[in-house]
Amino acid sequence: MGLYVHVPFCKTKCPYCDFNTYQGIENLMEPFLPSLKAEIQSWGETLAHPAVTSIFFGGGTPSYLPPGYIEQILACIQSSYQVDSGAEITIEANPGDLDAAACAGILAQGVNRLSIGVQSLDNDLLNLLGRRHQASEAVDAFQAARKAGFDNVNLDLMYGLPNQSIHQWRKTLDSLTSLEPEHISLYALTLEEGTPMHRWAEEGKIPEPDPDLAADMYQYARESLAAAGYHHYEISNWSLPDRACGHNLVYWENGPYLGVGPGAHSRLGDWRFWTVLSPRDYNTKATAWAQSGIQPADDLVETVLESVQTLGGWEHLGPETICSETMFLGLRLLDGLNLSGASARTGVDMAGKFQAPIQECIDLGLLVRDGDCLKLTESAYLIANQAFTRFLG
Ligand code: SF4
Repeated sequence: MGLYVHVPFCKTKCPYCDFNTYQGIENLMEPFLPSLKAEIQSWGETLAHPAVTSIFFGGGTPSYLPPGYIEQILACIQSSYQVDSGAEITIEANPGDLDAAACAGILAQGVNRLSIGVQSLDNDLLNLLGRRHQASEAVDAFQAARKAGFDNVNLDLMYGLPNQSIHQWRKTLDSLTSLEPEHISLYALTLEEGTPMHRWAEEGKIPEPDPDLAADMYQYARESLAAAGYHHYEISNWSLPDRACGHNLVYWENGPYLGVGPGAHSRLGDWRFWTVLSPRDYNTKATAWAQSGIQPADDLVETVLESVQTLGGWEHLGPETICSETMFLGLRLLDGLNLSGASARTGVDMAGKFQAPIQECIDLGLLVRDGDCLKLTESAYLIANQAFTRFLG
């Protein structure tokens, strides 16, 4: 399984962000560490020390944690699970946190993949996004990572931003591509309800994102990244050969993963479960669970459900849900979904079960089928939800 570690702390909260992450709760960092370790250990015992193929520190801003935290968390993971010797271990980082010493420290702690939140190389746009770094710091951070020895780096960028011109976008993307990172993720800005940026747009303080301009930016990215040798393997993700994000592939292939930390979601077998959102409540609950002692029942499911009732909530995934999710997650991968493979994983004849929506999507020009392989057409990349919703029960 993949292991996701959610770090709920950010130095400042960006006005577009609706993730479960907070500024101004640094007082909870110290108790967070033993609570997280308690949860990691408890799951290790409950699940009988399962094999872990990838580890992903996300958030939030994992690079904002005090020195030594990641090392301690990784040591705890290593002693609680069977971590593959070649496991991909990623940490998300803010450019402002990545000087030479920090990069060397993170690498020495066992992290082998860095994901840097660049977002833009235009200082006006970075200010609008509320980011705490300047464009030059993002480039410096990448170079510091390279010098420290990181040979697997992702750069995150955002497009479709208020006041962003196609010229600014081209300049940013071209500059970033010239750095030759192994992986690039591009996300269109969405104004999530409840965020300050959503309110600003409603009040007319910033223009609403222009979807046509965003589509032009995406198209430019597709062409320029292809010319630079990047494989467009998922709607929002490009990589050099063999550098796709192994951890995210687990999600897209609807595979098993365990999430630890406040609000983290897990999917194991027929179950999806999650921990409480509030970092303060999380600290209390994770500690209480560990102190209650793990008493594995005869039935693993029973044990897991007892545990998640303490930590948060759960839902049982029926065959309909599992089949639907396997389709629309798998179709995010642009090389296509192998229908026989999906049938083998779900135990259901997927081509037969979804015959009608598959045909409808083909007729609408959203999907194309080549034997056993079903994939999005290029013109459907930005409207993929129109295909995905047809696979919902
Ligand atoms: S740094 Fe990332 S996680 Fe934190 S507030 Fe900004 S966008 Fe959200």
